[in-house]
Amino acid sequence: MKYVGIVLLCLLGLLVVLIAIAALKAVKIKAKPNTNTPAINPTKQEADDYAAKLSEMIKVPTISLRGNTDLSQFYKLHEVMRKNFPNVFEKMECTEIEGNLLLRLPGKDPKRNGILLMGHQDVVTADEPTWEKDPFSGEISGGNIHGRGAMDCKSTVFSEFQALEELIAEGFEPPCDVYLATAVDEEISGGGAPMLVDYLKSNGVHLDVAMDEGGAILKGQLPTMDGWCAAIGILEKGYIDVKIKAKGKGGHSSTPPKNTPLTRLSKFVADIENDQPFKAEISAPVYAMLDQAAPYLGFPLRMVLGNMWLFKGLLTKVLPVVSPMCNAFVKTTFACTMAGGSQTPNVVPTEAYVVCNLRPSPHQNAEASLAVLQKYADKYDLELEVIHARSASNCVDYNGEEFGYLKKCLNECYPDAGVIPYLMTGGTDCRHYEAVADNCLRFCPIKMSNEQLAAMHAANESIGVDEVAHCVKFYKHYIKNHK
Ligand SMILES: [Zn+2]
Repeated sequence: MKYVGIVLLCLLGLLVVLIAIAALKAVKIKAKPNTNTPAINPTKQEADDYAAKLSEMIKVPTISLRGNTDLSQFYKLHEVMRKNFPNVFEKMECTEIEGNLLLRLPGKDPKRNGILLMGHQDVVTADEPTWEKDPFSGEISGGNIHGRGAMDCKSTVFSEFQALEELIAEGFEPPCDVYLATAVDEEISGGGAPMLVDYLKSNGVHLDVAMDEGGAILKGQLPTMDGWCAAIGILEKGYIDVKIKAKGKGGHSSTPPKNTPLTRLSKFVADIENDQPFKAEISAPVYAMLDQAAPYLGFPLRMVLGNMWLFKGLLTKVLPVVSPMCNAFVKTTFACTMAGGSQTPNVVPTEAYVVCNLRPSPHQNAEASLAVLQKYADKYDLELEVIHARSASNCVDYNGEEFGYLKKCLNECYPDAGVIPYLMTGGTDCRHYEAVADNCLRFCPIKMSNEQLAAMHAANESIGVDEVAHCVKFYKHYIKNHK
C-alpha cells in the first residue's frame, strides 16, 4: 500500500513537471507582433481601377454546368481580359485550348524551370434566393466588389493577370519563364486543367512551382486565433464517389418482408455514422499545421498544440469530436449524398442504392478507405460500385525553398499575418500540375472575412476593394523577387 502511494506521488510529480515544461514552451513560442512596414502599398486610385476591371469580369456569367459545351461566355470573358490586359496578351505567348488559356512570358534563361500562377474562369450557379445584389452586376459598394466569382476565383485570376500586366509595362524580364494558366471547368472537375498540363508536358516544360486558389489570409479560423493568418494549402485530401447497391425480392408494401434493400442500406449508413470507423491520425502535414499555428493561439490552446510531443495522443482522440472541420483534418470523411429506391410509394424495391462521397485522408488512402466500407457492405449483403476514386495528393515540402519563399513574401507584404501550412479538405485544379511542378501551392494572397469565406458557393459572394489591390501588389512582389 505504501509503495502504491509512492508510485502515485511520483507519477503526479512527473505530470506536474511535464505540464510545467509544456507551459514554459507555450510562453516561449508565443508569436511577437511584427511591426515592419508592409512592402506593398497600393494607392486608392489603383484600388478603384482594379475594382472596375474585376467588376467587368464578374459581369460575364461564366457558369460551369455539366454537359454544357457552349463556351461563348468564356470567349466574352477573354474579350474583356484582352481589353484590360493588353500587355499580357501582346507580350506573352498565348495558347488557347477549348477556352482554357495558357500564357508564357519568356525568361532570360530558357533552360530554367518556370513558375506558374493559376485560377479558374468558371463559377458555380447563383440561384440562391437570398442574394442581396444581382450576382452578375459586379456592383462595387461598401468597399466591396459583389457577385458570383468575386472571390472564387475571378479575383485570383484578375490579380495574377494585372500583376503581369504592370510588370510587363515596367519592362520586367523574369529570370525564368512565368506562366499564367486558367481553365474553364474547375467547378465541375472538368478536363481543362489536365489539357493544359498535357500541353506543358508535351512541350517538355517543368515548373518549380504552380500556385492555385485554395488557402487565403483569414481571421479567427481557429479558436483563440485573433489575428490574421495565411493558410497555405500544401496538399488536398482524396476523393471518392461510390454507389452502394442492395437487391431484394420486392413485393407489396402492405405485407412487407424484413431486410428490404432500403432497410439494409439505412443500417449501413447509420452504422458508419455511429461507428466513425475511419482511422484517426495526426498525419505529418496536419502535425505541421497545428504545430505552426500554435504560436498564434491563446493560452492554453497554445500549450496543447505547441507541445505535440506530449499531447498528440490526446489530440488524436479529441479532434474528431471537436467539429466537422477538425474531424476532416484527422480522418477520412463519409457523407451519404444521393439515394434511390422504388418508383412507387407502395412498392418495395427490388433494387435500391445510396451514393456516398468520401474524402480519404493522407494516412488512409482511397483503397484503404474503400476497404473499410466494404466490410460494412458485406455485413448487409450490399454491392459497391466505385464511380471515382483517388487518394490524397502529394504534399509540398513545407520545409523547402518554394514554401519558404512564399512565406518570406507574406511576411514582407502582410507583416500582421501569421503563416501556416494546411491540409485542404476540398479539391482544386492544382493537383493535376503535380505532373509538371515540384511544388503545388494552393493559396491566394488575399485577406477575407469569415462572412466572405462563408459566401463561397453560396449567396452574397464579395471581395474587398482594398484587399484585391493588395493581392495584385503581392503577386507583383512574388514574381519580381522570385529567383
Ligand atoms: Zn474555386
